[in-house]
Amino acid sequence: MKIVLLGGPGAGKGTQAQRLVAEYGVAHISTGDLLRAAIKAGTELGKKAKSFMDKGQLVPDDLVIGLVKERLAQDDAQKGFILDGFPRNTAQAVVLDSELSDMGIALDAALLVDVDSAVIVKRLSSRRTCRSCGYTAPAGVDVCPRCGGEMYQRDDDKPETIQHRLDVYQTQTAPLVEYYKGHGILKTVNGDQPVDEVYKDVKEVLGL
Ligand code: AMP
Repeated sequence: MKIVLLGGPGAGKGTQAQRLVAEYGVAHISTGDLLRAAIKAGTELGKKAKSFMDKGQLVPDDLVIGLVKERLAQDDAQKGFILDGFPRNTAQAVVLDSELSDMGIALDAALLVDVDSAVIVKRLSSRRTCRSCGYTAPAGVDVCPRCGGEMYQRDDDKPETIQHRLDVYQTQTAPLVEYYKGHGILKTVNGDQPVDEVYKDVKEVLGL
């Protein structure tokens, strides 16, 4: 399984990725998680990325591409991977294609988790994220049900940043839907349903 996940912020990509990882044992490569880990570790890259992330802007391509290349080369990614949050624009998609072709592999599918932007605003403003493992849950859950870590509101899930992230998605990331349609690998599920229903549809469109 080698797939990329597409969909606006808060569409549920991470949740669906976690389910696929738990069931099929493939690597979950979330650039957002990798960047947040770099910030937490205080690396140079993390410091550079933070100012863009706090504003809801995309981190420069060269920083993110380096992280993804490193991650794709790790052992656990060899039997399959789910890219979550990458690529985020056409330039990244083109680099990914060329990187994968150098590795002698190709994507099986680009999976779009489709959710209306009004639903996204509502979901993101009440989303809480685990500081330790990245698990997400609605507001009101203070302790991570998965690892016991502290749940917090990401800076970029605050109302003033959400609309900007949606705009960035529309202008920079949404064109990837046509890109992958053109490559004949686009699959779409309706993400505005209970998580279990979305997952059922995900497995169906991926032929799992
Ligand atoms: P996410 O967790 O996927 O919502 O990503 C959170 C933030 O990390 C985004 O708003 C961007 O600032 C940054 N980010 C994540 N993935 C990428 C990417 N592929 N390219 C550029 N910036 C990214």
